[in-house]
Amino acid sequence: MAQIRIENVRKEFGSFTAVQSSTFTIEDGEFFMLLGPSGCGKTTTLRMMAGLELPTSGQIYIDGEEVGQKPASQRDIAFVFQMFALYPHMNVRGNISYPLKSQGMPSAQVKAKVAEVAEILGISDILDRPVGGLSGGDRQRVALGRAIVRDPKAFFMDEPLGALDAEFRERMSEELRALHDRMNATTVYVTHDQLEAMQMGDKIVVMNHGVVEQFGVPQDIYDWPATRFVAQFIGSPPMNFLDFEGMIGAGQDEVRLGDATIGVPRSVDGRAGKLTLGVRPEHVRLDDSAAYRGRVLATEYLGTTQIVTLETAHGAVKVRVPSSDPVTLGATTGLRFDARTITLFENDHGRALT
Ligand code: ATP
Repeated sequence: MAQIRIENVRKEFGSFTAVQSSTFTIEDGEFFMLLGPSGCGKTTTLRMMAGLELPTSGQIYIDGEEVGQKPASQRDIAFVFQMFALYPHMNVRGNISYPLKSQGMPSAQVKAKVAEVAEILGISDILDRPVGGLSGGDRQRVALGRAIVRDPKAFFMDEPLGALDAEFRERMSEELRALHDRMNATTVYVTHDQLEAMQMGDKIVVMNHGVVEQFGVPQDIYDWPATRFVAQFIGSPPMNFLDFEGMIGAGQDEVRLGDATIGVPRSVDGRAGKLTLGVRPEHVRLDDSAAYRGRVLATEYLGTTQIVTLETAHGAVKVRVPSSDPVTLGATTGLRFDARTITLFENDHGRALT
């Protein structure tokens, strides 16, 4: 098991900067997610940690030892790729034992270790089967078996479930998380799926255009996005943004939005100019007595809740309310924002005000 620390790590490919100076720490035993849209630099970051790519500058520490310029073979990590390539001419046992045999481990020890790993993964009964005829799930388990049998310091996974259909993906992600909880091995997992990151991760790094936008536990990232990008990328539907020109004084806990006064968390610094009020759809209620008004444009039924889209003076706002709430298309109603969960952003840079 291992603690991994990235310090001011940067990666350039020619004149293109794939990863800007990044700093964060993955604690021993954590299930850690690298999350962001396609091309944001998450795979490059993972490959640098693994030693498959060397950083242009900065340091990478595994258990306090600087390994930034060391090759993958000297880092004692296991990489689980998206395509679980198994050796087709070997049976399950052959595939799982291969890394140990190639290390020269005596065969009695190999046998015991393979049996232990098969037990953890629930595949003891298929050890002598050829891999060709296995189901997708069993193939994934065999590939995982091959990764965990070496007892590496950490597991690195790059979109391991990316190619699976939704239902199967859900099942495998639960299995992966349960496996991690049994083994407690540091795991770094790349995904562009925010829901997967929220469900599986102990901590998340959110990247965009090679920049670490935020780093923290899922709930903090959801509740207190550091930037407008994070607020929009996490959550479905995403946070609503109401752009306005105004001010908030230091220590003040409300802002003027048109004719309405909206309560917000107390501002420390105060700010004037172009601001954005961010509020999640589930933190708005429809309340006819509220001063802030909107006209119902659409409703989307989702079972226990519905998403209501309202046209306001600051653009469309989506609200998640119980399906039992009566909503009339075209009607005008009040919107009441939950003051505790509002985030104010600087309009120019998109940073949250603290
Ligand atoms: P995806 O989910 O699409 O893989 P990602 O967030 O993992 O995206 P990276 O694969 O890290 O992104 O790529 C980040 C950027 O760096 C991309 O614009 C990519 O084209 C570029 N890049 C990656 N590897 C190289 C390389 N070897 N040479 C040049 N550019 C590269």
